Amino acid sequence: MPTDSGVDRARLSQLAARERALFADRHPRSAAAYAGAGHLFGRVPMTWMNKTAGGFPVYVATAQGARVTDIDGHSYVDFCLGDTGAMAGHSPEPVVSAVTRRLAELGGASTMLPTEDASAVGAELAARFGLPYWSFALTATDANRWAIRLLRAVSGRPKILFNSYCYHGSVDESLIVVGPDGNGLSRDGNVGAPTDVTTTSRVAEFNDLAGLERQLAHGDVAAVLMEPALTNIGIVLPTPGYLAGVRDLTRKYGTYLINDETHTFSAGPGGATAAWGLSPDVLTIGKAIGGGIPVGAYGLSAELADSLLGRGDLDLVDMGGVGGTLAGNPVSMAATRATLTEVLTADAFATMISTATAFAGGIRKLIETHNLPWSVSQLGARVEYRFADPAPLNGTDSAASADAELEDFLHLYLANRGILLTPFHNMALMSPVTTLDDVERHHTVFADALAELLA
Ligand code: PMP
Repeated sequence: MPTDSGVDRARLSQLAARERALFADRHPRSAAAYAGAGHLFGRVPMTWMNKTAGGFPVYVATAQGARVTDIDGHSYVDFCLGDTGAMAGHSPEPVVSAVTRRLAELGGASTMLPTEDASAVGAELAARFGLPYWSFALTATDANRWAIRLLRAVSGRPKILFNSYCYHGSVDESLIVVGPDGNGLSRDGNVGAPTDVTTTSRVAEFNDLAGLERQLAHGDVAAVLMEPALTNIGIVLPTPGYLAGVRDLTRKYGTYLINDETHTFSAGPGGATAAWGLSPDVLTIGKAIGGGIPVGAYGLSAELADSLLGRGDLDLVDMGGVGGTLAGNPVSMAATRATLTEVLTADAFATMISTATAFAGGIRKLIETHNLPWSVSQLGARVEYRFADPAPLNGTDSAASADAELEDFLHLYLANRGILLTPFHNMALMSPVTTLDDVERHHTVFADALAELLA
């Protein structure tokens, strides 16, 4: 029976079972490693690694450029790229050199003293994103947490507004969705929420300015924390005028605007903020800018930095709730400097985006050939297809178009033939060293998968 995704479910289940058996057959060492990890909670270093279509994860042996090899000796073209953490490619030489030099010279993260690399990174981030003052974390989650605290402090308002089905890391306040009655609701599966999320947060659908205004009009929202395009529920692109409308409304209601560019950085060297001429008060980012080494960062407007530093009642030095011992450490600063100045350069972005355009074009053509009700969205170097046409305009609609069984089948079919996508959705990211041949290889396998599925 064809469904909304346009595929026959019985055929899908049959092929998925075949691919799971093939996966088990091809990965005996990974299976044994998983079986032997009994002292890990959920058998994995972090429980999300159990999000795998094959029943157990592939164990990685090496990762270089856009290639990963596993401990069973298989090689993959990696379009997952650590869900953006490796957008610079794996083990880029300038980062490896900078990091190994720093480790040898000063032992990593243990001195509690600043290095000059951090100033250079601050200047580079300021030039790219337009915000003059920067501070560091080790994850994008923490950058978001600390940005939220600073904006609650400076505004004296209690709430943060999010888009439904956003993801900004494990930030308590962000686990809110628009419920069926239009009001905020805790996101399904929210683990051990410290308090009812509606006491800390408000929520609006992406691309819905009227809904946003209704929420901001309460006058209690310190900041809107958003991605300029949603990237964690498929890619949901902004409709014309939406982002300008968000900026106008946040100004009208005295609410600060935070752009989380952790994923939308794929839009260009200055992320969507520079590519689309946006002017947030705060910008948060992490993952890719460290070239594989943990880092998070947030940039502040001059007005905000002045207000915050002038507030004697805020403990920004010791235990006031903003900061971490290893944040801004010499190794992550050296890695970030090398990544930004030598790897994820403007030239590299031009290549990545043109590779992604080829990727998106090829997928579109296959979808058209098979007359599938699917759509493709591109955000610079990032491409994603969704089982809905036209592409959904907000998080709730995009969530409704998910098809976990179909997604798992495609991921597994590709993985069994040497192609990795991000396990969470159908995202493919291009690194500076991803080639058109890599794209072609993906499309050949993807075409075979569709031909078998739709036969
Ligand atoms: N912001 C966005 C937009 C993200 O997609 C993510 C993670 N995927 C984060 C923040 C959190 O990043 P991390 O898990 O590295 O803290």
